[in-house]
Amino acid sequence: MSVTQQQVLDVLGKVKSPDGVALIHANVLSSVTVNDGKVFFSINVDAAEARAWESVRAAAEAAVRAIPGVTTAMIALTAERKPGSPAAAPPAASHRHSHGVQPVSAHRPPQSPASPMSKQSEIPGIAAVIAVASGKGGVGKSTTALNLALGLRDLGLRVGLLDADIYGPSVPRLTGIHEKPQLDDNRKMIPIQRFGLAIMSIGFLVEEETAMIWRGPMVMSAITQMLRDVAWGTLDVLVVDMPPGTGDAQLTLAQNVPLRGAVIISTPQDLSLIDARRGLAMFKKVNVPVLGIVENMSYFQCPECGTRSDIFGHGGARLEAERLGVPFLGEIPLHMSIRATSDSGTPVVDSEPDGPHASIYRAIGAKVRDQLQGVIAAA
Ligand code: ADP
Repeated sequence: MSVTQQQVLDVLGKVKSPDGVALIHANVLSSVTVNDGKVFFSINVDAAEARAWESVRAAAEAAVRAIPGVTTAMIALTAERKPGSPAAAPPAASHRHSHGVQPVSAHRPPQSPASPMSKQSEIPGIAAVIAVASGKGGVGKSTTALNLALGLRDLGLRVGLLDADIYGPSVPRLTGIHEKPQLDDNRKMIPIQRFGLAIMSIGFLVEEETAMIWRGPMVMSAITQMLRDVAWGTLDVLVVDMPPGTGDAQLTLAQNVPLRGAVIISTPQDLSLIDARRGLAMFKKVNVPVLGIVENMSYFQCPECGTRSDIFGHGGARLEAERLGVPFLGEIPLHMSIRATSDSGTPVVDSEPDGPHASIYRAIGAKVRDQLQGVIAAA
């Protein structure tokens, strides 16, 4: 039986705001997305009133879950401070579980916590969460994130991949995964196991176009839920494929996800390096250590004769890394087999494990692993 948006609105008509107004008339609902039994929406309230709304969010979620045919209900309470309203402390719950208020940083400068982990509790069972980020799209961030995850796997680590590129989730295409995650007894989503990785993407749940229209606060809530309401099991490293760019959504993510470090992907072109610099500045702002820069599409390697051409004037990222005092992790060539394998769902580290590209990704993985060694060993 397929669930309709009207059914969801009908039950929300019976849930009351703290002032006793039916939720559908309280002017707080985002658009309600219903997709194959999965329901997503957010309740957007003033931060000063957030605490009073938590029980309403819980009641709304319970009511939606009770609709026959609903398999997942992702209902986020998002709090935006209205101009002129007093500062509100986030409810204690926001640090404990994913359904709490996720304060939105869009209209205020991020705090500078003493440690990157101080603002968000770590995720039980996961030793280190790292971000793979880029200053702009199309530089091969997702391809690198997946192959880096596989490189870490080859080093004997237990690895997960979270596709947080909510505006354009490409992990379903890169991995060839088209199944939907199941729920476990605790109603947590079970990540898909493929290539020895635990993998989760919003693209497993909704169509790409649906994700594209989400507002900033919903993006954050969905990602928080994918981090904390997924049964990841025990992992040494969870690689998070970030949305490209350095806008508010990315900054909020970098601030709210308990990151141990970030890897920045850049191409050699100057423009991309400028963007990469913005990425570095963003992580610095929120005190997340940059584990290093990777130069992707660094040089062209002819698939026929193996000749190397530096078509983009390669080496810029290495120089930039030296100048900025961050580690340079490696150069990945622009190569047909990387493109072909990533676009056919058979990532090169897995499908050509003895090839030259796999060893490049493994070497990058080793440099990342070395920097996380202490955390992994401690866990
Ligand atoms: P992003 O996540 O930055 O948007 P993707 O990882 O989706 O980028 O890559 C964009 C396109 O570039 C894809 O078609 C991918 O296969 C290709 N690509 C990425 N890295 C390489 C590479 N080193 N050599 C050849 N093609 C690549």
